[in-house]
Amino acid sequence: MFSFIKNTLKKIYNQVTSRISGIFSLKKIDEQTLKELEEILLSADTGVKTTRTIIQNLKNKFKRGEIQEGQDLKKALEKQLYEILTTKQPKIGKHIFVMVGINGSGKTTFTGKLAHAFKNEGKKVLMVAADTFRAAATEQLEKWAESTGVEIITGVENQDPASVVFKGCETYKNGNFDIIIIDTAGRLQTKINLMRELEKIKKIINRHFPDETINTLLTIDSMLGQNSLEQAKIFNESTNVSGIVMTKMDGTGKGGIVFAITQELSIPISYISFGEKVDQMKPFDAKEYVDELLG
Ligand code: GDP
Ligand code: MG
Repeated sequence: MFSFIKNTLKKIYNQVTSRISGIFSLKKIDEQTLKELEEILLSADTGVKTTRTIIQNLKNKFKRGEIQEGQDLKKALEKQLYEILTTKQPKIGKHIFVMVGINGSGKTTFTGKLAHAFKNEGKKVLMVAADTFRAAATEQLEKWAESTGVEIITGVENQDPASVVFKGCETYKNGNFDIIIIDTAGRLQTKINLMRELEKIKKIINRHFPDETINTLLTIDSMLGQNSLEQAKIFNESTNVSGIVMTKMDGTGKGGIVFAITQELSIPISYISFGEKVDQMKPFDAKEYVDELLG
C-alpha cells in the first residue's frame, strides 16, 4: 500500500523536484540562482508573500556567505520550509471531528476516508450527515457509510443541520462510539450565515461534550491554487479551524500551496487527500513532505 501512495505523491512534487535538482547541484550560487529558485517556488503555487519571505531569508544567508554552493542552498531551504510547516501544531482532539470547507472541496469524500482509517485502527466510528441542503449530499455519505461499514446518522432535506448533529451526539454518547465525524454544508453566500451555522453546530457538540476538544478540519482543494487561500481565509474567520486537509493533491503536480496556506493562515496541515479511493489519504508528515519535494 505504501509504495502505491509514494507513487501517487511523486506526482505532487514532480514539477518542483525535477526543476530544483539542477540548482542543488551547482558548485557556486549567485543572485541569479536565487531568482530562478523564486520563479520555481512561485510556479509551484507557493504564493507571492510566502515566496518573498523564503527568498529574502535565503538572500540574507547568501550575503553573509552562509550559502555558497547548491547543497548549502538545499539545506537552508529545507530548514525554512520545514519551519513554516511546523511552527503551528494542531489542537489535538481525539474523538470529535467536524468537516468544513466550500462545496466541492472534498468534505464528504474525506469524511468517508477518515472513517475508514479509524475503523481500520479498530475504532467504532459514527458519521453524521449534517449537509441537509441537498438530498444528494446525504446519499453520497450514505454510500461511504455502506462501503466502509460505518454507522451513520442522517436527517431529511432542509432539516436544521444542528438538529441532525444533536441526534448524532446522542447516538454517539449512548452507543459506545470512539469517533464521531460530522460532515457539514459548505454554503458561502454570506460569511455571517456560515458563521452562525457552524457556531450552532459547535454549541450542540459542546453541550454534549464540554470537556472534549473539537477537531475542526478545513478541506482545501489544492487544484484551486491561490484562490483556495482566499476561501480558506473566509472559513478561518468564520470558525475556529484546528487543522487543514489538502485535498485533490493527485491533481496539482505543484505542491507549494501547503507552504502558502500554513504561512498565511497559521494553521497546520493535518492530512492530505489524493484521489477518490478510500485509502488515498494520509496524515501530513512535514519532514517527509519537504524531503520528497526537494528530492
Ligand atoms: P464536498 O462538497 O466538500 O463534500 O466535496 P466532495 O467530497 O463531494 O468532493 C467533490 C468532488 O471531488 C467529488 O467528485 C469527489 O469524488 C472529488 N474528490 C474529493 N477528494 C478528492 C481527491 O483527493 N482527489 C480527487 N481526484 N478527487 C477528489
Ligand atoms: Mg459534501
